[in-house]
Amino acid sequence: MDIPRIFTISESAHRIHDPITAEKLATLGAALRLEPGMRMLDLGSGSGEMLCTWARDYGVTGTGVDMSQLFTQQARLRAEELGVADRVEFIHGDAAGYVSDEKVDVAACVGATWIAGGVAGTIELLCRSLRDGGLILIGEPYWRQLPPSEDVARGCGAESIADFLTLLELIASFGRLGHDVVEMVLADQDSWDRYEAAKWLTMRRWLEANPDDEFAEEVRAHLTSEPERYTAYTRDYLGWGVFALMPR
Ligand code: SAH
Repeated sequence: MDIPRIFTISESAHRIHDPITAEKLATLGAALRLEPGMRMLDLGSGSGEMLCTWARDYGVTGTGVDMSQLFTQQARLRAEELGVADRVEFIHGDAAGYVSDEKVDVAACVGATWIAGGVAGTIELLCRSLRDGGLILIGEPYWRQLPPSEDVARGCGAESIADFLTLLELIASFGRLGHDVVEMVLADQDSWDRYEAAKWLTMRRWLEANPDDEFAEEVRAHLTSEPERYTAYTRDYLGWGVFALMPR
């Protein structure tokens, strides 16, 4: 079981697999007023940077579940590196339907809401692991400006304009789903660059190290087109944010 190889190549050097920087992740951790001993669940935990740094900075404990073998391995190494391996655990597996044995104080899915068929399904899934009064974290894209055509939406990597809402619509939708929005930290174009542009150097270096790999042609095509695609579409049209929610 694993995710498509293009991600584990292009994002192999990423600590955070989303358009949020280490600084913004720290801002979010501080904003949530975490306390030592709080328990977290993170579905689609990637390379574990959120759990590991918050365990180091705030003394939280937690479990991450991720389908990428490489990212899960990197998360475990990061936990060792930051001296929090006794507080965080990373499980390699499918997070679809995952509910924790013990209720948690913070249940998160940051940039992987397809795990439960979208934002509504993911909130529902996370709520099953959440203690009364706990926080849900959802990381999700939104349109900074509505694409003028379906072609532009596809240029942003969406299947259609309907895939995402505007920020205002997204915030309103959380209310309609029965949740208060109690905090948010948003990406900006610079943090998008850190996520997207960082892939380019990784791909270039991978190509130099693996010229004969059967996947080299695909990576080469990606590296050739991505800087222009990203600059023409995603950078201007797509926003992204982490939203903290509490059931009303
Ligand atoms: N939250 C992390 C990773 C976001 S990228 C961060 O912000 O850094 C999306 C992650 O979802 C990837 O790590 C990918 O491996 C993982 N993923 C994709 N489908 C999954 C599934 N069905 N179950 C668990 N993880 C999944």
